[in-house]
Amino acid sequence: MEEKEPQWERYFTPEYTDIPAIFYSHTTKSPFENCISCNRPLQAHDTQYLVEKAFRQYRGEFSTSDVIFEYAICLDCAELMRRELSLSSLSRIQEFFDQRVDLHQRRKELRKNEGIDSKRWLQRCLITGEEMQELDEFQIYGHFNGNRCVYSFMPYMIGGPAVDEMTELLSDKTLGEIDRFVDENFGLPPELKKPIKDNPLIFI
Ligand SMILES: [Zn+2]
Repeated sequence: MEEKEPQWERYFTPEYTDIPAIFYSHTTKSPFENCISCNRPLQAHDTQYLVEKAFRQYRGEFSTSDVIFEYAICLDCAELMRRELSLSSLSRIQEFFDQRVDLHQRRKELRKNEGIDSKRWLQRCLITGEEMQELDEFQIYGHFNGNRCVYSFMPYMIGGPAVDEMTELLSDKTLGEIDRFVDENFGLPPELKKPIKDNPLIFI
């Protein structure tokens, strides 16, 4: 049966904070203003969207990090993208999450032990538990409503090794579909589209 509302809405009321700076656009140093696909203004009241950002870290005495790519996409466009993807790939990703992480339990423990604190929610890889400091690459995901950060199953962080595992689960067909969707719908120059295609991830 088709489910319209996000899964988590049936289980709990999400909580909110201001948008943590780590989810700001690296380019503008402020919250994302527009959907990368339909250009809809995102800071408008009751506009839901997702942000994905990928980082590369240079560790050592003076650790630094680069943003490899970043974008915000409204929920309608994210859903359109999802619909383009082959069902077999989607079900493999779903199965992967089901086997590797209990999102309800994770949220419960974070709420109890850490409160509503994005730093703590992003500290460990959702899949492997590796710490952010230990990772050469990682991606963060957040869910927002206008100028508020929504604490549902997101925000979360997925480390490079887990992203690679997930990419391997996607069929060539799905990877082609992601490429095409990004080409046709993301308002970015080709050099900025490439890293997104190379690190495709499907929001769950
Ligand atoms: Zn959109």
